Amino acid sequence: MSANTDDGLLIVSEEICEQVIRRPDAFSAVEAVFGAMARGDAYNFPVVREAIGHADALYGFKSGFDRAGMVLGVKAGGYWPGNMAKGLTNHQSTVCLFDPDTGRLVALVGGNYLTALRTAASSAVSIAHLARKDAKVLGMVGAGHQSTFQLRAAVEQRDFERVVAWNPHPDMLPRLAAVAEELGLAFEAVTPEGLGAQADVIITITSAFEPLIMADWIKPGTHIACMGTDTKGKQEVDPALFKSATVFADEIAQSITIGEAQHAVASGLIGEGDLTAIGEVINATHPGRSSDDEITLFDGTGVGLQDLAVASVAARLAREQGLVTPVAL
Ligand code: NAD
Repeated sequence: MSANTDDGLLIVSEEICEQVIRRPDAFSAVEAVFGAMARGDAYNFPVVREAIGHADALYGFKSGFDRAGMVLGVKAGGYWPGNMAKGLTNHQSTVCLFDPDTGRLVALVGGNYLTALRTAASSAVSIAHLARKDAKVLGMVGAGHQSTFQLRAAVEQRDFERVVAWNPHPDMLPRLAAVAEELGLAFEAVTPEGLGAQADVIITITSAFEPLIMADWIKPGTHIACMGTDTKGKQEVDPALFKSATVFADEIAQSITIGEAQHAVASGLIGEGDLTAIGEVINATHPGRSSDDEITLFDGTGVGLQDLAVASVAARLAREQGLVTPVAL
């Protein structure tokens, strides 16, 4: 069901988003739209991202249309590095949803909380479809804002018993440890080599510009979700990993240009044809993991349709729960 209303525009605040949408809602919305993308029922428009020459800000748009879910819209926003000093989040975004039948603006939805939720849902979808069923140890590389969302969503996909973590800035790890403890999971700070040796599932969610995890450190059967690389130049893992792993992506075009796969493709290790859209596994047109020893890698670059999908759910739930009043534009 879409958020479309005949009686005006819904304004859904960050607070209401946090109140109404739950991780399973985000998981289902993201899983469905990945499936729609692979069927050709949903597509992302080219991303615009510009340094505006003011406040060191990066500003841009992620937009698309999901014909299956009837969701049309745009996420506008970006990165303002000076915001922290003002008591604001550095990443700022807002989602605009339009009625696909008329072009009318139907909802304005705060996009900050939803970005973290949909990004965590993306790696969770990959774990649900690609990780070994008997995965017990979750390895976290990264301990920033996104990492706790990632951890919470990941542990809902398998019966994890333990979290091992490494971060380039070790002082940031206690926050992640506190969430693991809250979730009843043992937590251990380890070396990156130790993480590779122990983890059955690894999530990387850093702003790194060079490989943090080497291919030789990963044991057979591991599933790795590379979530931090969403821009040209960023990099979290050894490109050689793309040779030893079976590689999946949210959107192949974005993965090979601004995602983690950019480096393996640029160095000729793999080509575009070596990647499979995760939606194909969701739609059962690709078998996914083929053996317990296979290494699977998911490149989650973050597409606009994920934002629109969760924003649409948040707007619908907010309306159903009487938390928003339509206004005339
Ligand atoms: P954050 O600033 O809160 O945390 C940054 C993390 O990266 C920390 O773990 C920090 O220790 C590490 N880090 C910082 N500089 C580094 C460097 N030079 N080398 C190695 N590690 C470094 O950021 P966040 O909000 O947690 O986001 C983490 C990453 O995820 C960012 O790159 C962000 O752009 C990306 N992201 C991706 C998606 C997606 O859909 N794929 C969505 C949101 C954010």
